Amino acid sequence: MATVYRTLNLLDELNLVQKHDFKESFSRFEVKEEHHHHLVDVESGEVIEFTNESLEILKHEIAAELGFDLVDHTLELYGRRKRN
Ligand SMILES: [Zn+2]
Repeated sequence: MATVYRTLNLLDELNLVQKHDFKESFSRFEVKEEHHHHLVDVESGEVIEFTNESLEILKHEIAAELGFDLVDHTLELYGRRKRN
């Protein structure tokens, strides 16, 4: 297990996987692919991937207003399913 973890951290350093720490006692790793974000179900631990174009534009606008070119960002949402 220690070897697996070392390897995953190495892949993370090489920028081949993305390491996620979702406020859990362990890290999750994901092979890098198309840009997206995550919504974590705080009850089941399910991770839902989503993309949102307005969000991407907004983040560039915020950075620009602060005098920056945005080079990277992360966003994780945490929620529980609505009960009707
Ligand atoms: Zn984004």
